[in-house]
Amino acid sequence: MFCFKNFRQRLNLRYISSLVQSKAYINGKWVKAENNEVFEIINPANGSVVGSVPNMSVNDASQAVQAAKKAFESSQWSMFTAKERSSLLKKWYCLIEENADEISSIMTAESGKPLNEARGEVAYGNAFIEWFGEEARRIYGEIIPSSTKDRELIVLKEPLGVAALITPWNFPMAMITRKAGAALAAGCTIVIKPAEDTPLTALALVKLAEQAGFPAGVINIVTTNKAPPIGDLFCKSPDVEGISFTGSTEVGKLLFRNSSDGIKRISLELGGNAPFIVFNSANLDKAVDAAVSCKFRNCGQTCISANRFFLQQEVHDGFIDLLKQRVESLKVGDGSKPGIQIGPLINSMQFNKVSAYVEDARLKNANIILGGKPLKNLGNLFYSPTIITDVPTNAKLYTEEVFGPVVSIMKFNTEEEVIHAANNSRRGLAGYFFSENIQQVFRVAKLLEVGMVGVNEALISAAEAPFGGVKESGIGREGCHHGIDEYVEIKYICMGNLRY
Ligand code: ADP
Repeated sequence: MFCFKNFRQRLNLRYISSLVQSKAYINGKWVKAENNEVFEIINPANGSVVGSVPNMSVNDASQAVQAAKKAFESSQWSMFTAKERSSLLKKWYCLIEENADEISSIMTAESGKPLNEARGEVAYGNAFIEWFGEEARRIYGEIIPSSTKDRELIVLKEPLGVAALITPWNFPMAMITRKAGAALAAGCTIVIKPAEDTPLTALALVKLAEQAGFPAGVINIVTTNKAPPIGDLFCKSPDVEGISFTGSTEVGKLLFRNSSDGIKRISLELGGNAPFIVFNSANLDKAVDAAVSCKFRNCGQTCISANRFFLQQEVHDGFIDLLKQRVESLKVGDGSKPGIQIGPLINSMQFNKVSAYVEDARLKNANIILGGKPLKNLGNLFYSPTIITDVPTNAKLYTEEVFGPVVSIMKFNTEEEVIHAANNSRRGLAGYFFSENIQQVFRVAKLLEVGMVGVNEALISAAEAPFGGVKESGIGREGCHHGIDEYVEIKYICMGNLRY
């Protein structure tokens, strides 16, 4: 039987969705790069070309910054009432919801994540637009009781100005909306620099923002595969007041250093090295369910993926048996096909890294009990879901973030020992543990050196909850009402010599 859906999926996406753009968006216009350069977007599942977008230069990015600056100053975005900003965000939210299927297909085609997960990301990502559309109306100031009779101390929250948003490929939509929603709610104007692997989802979102009616220059997007000089522009330009970055720790540090001269506001969501601890009292079924969803979502390519599994002695073998059964049954393949649970890795760099980390563990005498090899029959970027036990503390799988479908397991005896091991990392984004012992629950939740803790739960992100890390995992928080703080300045007004 002729299946229209499969037929559509085989066609170049450009012809099936009006949301697939081949231009960037600056100052309310869809534009090419100044030198007409473009670069192609590749479907990681099969190597096909999904589309192409402008390969913009520093000059192009500079135009975007100027447009955002002009929109901030002259089209009075910051002077829109909170209700007006909120209404536009709500319109954008509704348009995204109406187009959720289209956006999901684009996302799957360029990122490889299974369609179900892409749909989940659209819902999750759009929740930030909804949330910040609501929060836009609650950016309250304060009146502080003065210690003298003739004064009133007033505190206002004012938007920063132009915010540059640099985002990664693992959540092509949500990493943008989590930043853009907050920045726009606060009254900032924005320049988005999406990841080079996944700009099409980002452009589709901006297309819908245009339809929602955001004034020209309020939202700009610059596509490029030459990120460093553009990052440098954002860091050095006096017209950019804030930078929000999600990505690797190395690039985050570079941006932090480079923006220090201009004392820029900077918000960083960087890599993690999440511990996943299963104590003897844990409910093993729940723990295994959580381990599978936390580790294998997006093929393990999330910064809050469990990276180091610590299993207490009594539950060690039982957990591994259950986990092995579950992981063996995972369906790997092209994410656009029904029933697929794990797609390819995003690109060859990522694929080589995962392979090298597994080899490193093998050489250091870790025990590969499942997988541990590429799945060449499916394509160049597929890696088999892998379980490795007895991972030594000097293995890359232990010290670094693998960002792949690999479960690395260590055994432990005491709570004290595992807390020390879990915290023995300069990264501190998320941490998870499973325990039915109420005393232990509170104790361990407080002792873990991370920004987010999942207790008997591994899917912890939500628009209304603060996302962010400690140590080298970042600065600032996204989502929640705290997410607005990254985009506002506090202004204190002292009203003196008042006569009552
Ligand atoms: P990943 O390893 O996840 O690709 P990166 O930190 O390299 O993480 O990329 C995250 C985002 O940062 C992407 O949008 C990428 O283009 C951008 N990026 C990479 N290098 C720089 C840089 N030097 N300055 C600014 N942005 C950069």
